[in-house]
Amino acid sequence: MHRTLADDLSRLPELLQSARDLAARELTGLSERPVVHLGKAPDHAALPTGGAGAEGALARFAERWAPGFSGSAGPRYLGFVTGGATPASLAGDWLTGVYDQNGSGAAGSWATALERETVDWLRELFGLGEAHSGAFVTGATASNTVGLAIAREWLGERLGVSVSRDGAAALGPVHVLSGSPHASIGKALSVLGIGRDRLRSVPVLSGNREAVDVAALDSALSALDGRPAIVVANAGTVNTVDFDDLRAIAALRERHDFWLHVDAAFGGFAALSPSYAGLVDGLDAADSVCVDLHKWLNVPYDAAVQFTRRRDLQVAVFHNASPYLGLPAGEPDFVHLTPENSRRLRALPAWFSLMAYGRDGHREIVERNVALARELGERVAATDGLRLLAPVRLNVVCFTLADDPTPERVDALARAVAATGEAFVTPTVYDGTPGLRAAFSNWRTSAADVDRISAAVARAL
Ligand SMILES: *Cc1c(COP(=O)(O)O)cnc(C)c1O
Repeated sequence: MHRTLADDLSRLPELLQSARDLAARELTGLSERPVVHLGKAPDHAALPTGGAGAEGALARFAERWAPGFSGSAGPRYLGFVTGGATPASLAGDWLTGVYDQNGSGAAGSWATALERETVDWLRELFGLGEAHSGAFVTGATASNTVGLAIAREWLGERLGVSVSRDGAAALGPVHVLSGSPHASIGKALSVLGIGRDRLRSVPVLSGNREAVDVAALDSALSALDGRPAIVVANAGTVNTVDFDDLRAIAALRERHDFWLHVDAAFGGFAALSPSYAGLVDGLDAADSVCVDLHKWLNVPYDAAVQFTRRRDLQVAVFHNASPYLGLPAGEPDFVHLTPENSRRLRALPAWFSLMAYGRDGHREIVERNVALARELGERVAATDGLRLLAPVRLNVVCFTLADDPTPERVDALARAVAATGEAFVTPTVYDGTPGLRAAFSNWRTSAADVDRISAAVARAL
């Protein structure tokens, strides 16, 4: 064994203590460190020959790189939809590395059984019935990709071809319909050989809405003359957190032949609160569902879950037949369900957080974030020089400059907010107007943070 490696092995508990000490310092200071880092990153160092040992690596990381890491896990990073990491999920994440299990299949470990328990809990949390099975993937983009891959296989089933064997070309042109899809849907369609341009946008409801007009969807489906299609419904759009009427869309299946995929990346968490659960009413009718976990569940990157009612088709797409693994029989191993073969036990941080805080604890995070978003929304509406672009429906405040919101002026405002070090919001375009989004999804965010956020925006104006 290399001398430094042997040395580290002999001092493993001390090394872990040093890493723990750094982690504790960073986490204690998280709420006060600059929310983002805009300075230039260091030049690349040469590849080490002898190696510095783990203590040496820790010291160099702390000195060269850690100072430039953002406070995105903290309470006032409101860009994109960014969750933090609950204390229990962080412990679970550390232990994921400690046990270093390969979650591809049972292989002499209970690890995949733990993943199944966690998927069951999540299924229940989001109000899905037992007909849905699921698996962990890296994020909502991967979850959407898996859901749409199963949809693609289903199209093959309807048309009498096997996409998994013959390829996507066997389908001919595919019809994918959606009101306000997330950008990752186009990416998934590109990856899947369906093609980004096959995504047809269906009109949304009038009156400052992003939810699909179900009557327009009905007509678009009628125009396909019975050809099977894929409908991507959106439960929580990124700009204004609008929700498609899932129940009404599902009811269209009485007259039209389509696969219903629901992107509920963060909107799925509405199910946790009796006040907002109505927004995802009908989710259980979906053929496939995407929910992100590194957003509103507040587990560390990266984790999401995908659910489907057609695990048989999922296995047709993803099975990994090899002489030593064989074809799946009975309950398929995870190796046969997602793009990965070997895979990290992503379920463990989620298992820890759900075990530690339960449905009630996670519901409280959701409800507090929504209340704080509404509070910021009221302040923005009352600020001279700013206006809301849409009502605050759930956890995102979408706003812009009251006068002349050009892309340049709006970007400059975003940069000025970031430069305060106090808050971070991201630019967007909503209904043709450049604006900013402040998305609340961090478990730490408090009313005092909303004071600091609105002060930072006022200063940046
Ligand atoms: C964030 C998001 C995605 C993509 O999620 P990643 O975790 O970044 O892959 C997809 N859909 C919606 C609605 C999202 O909010």
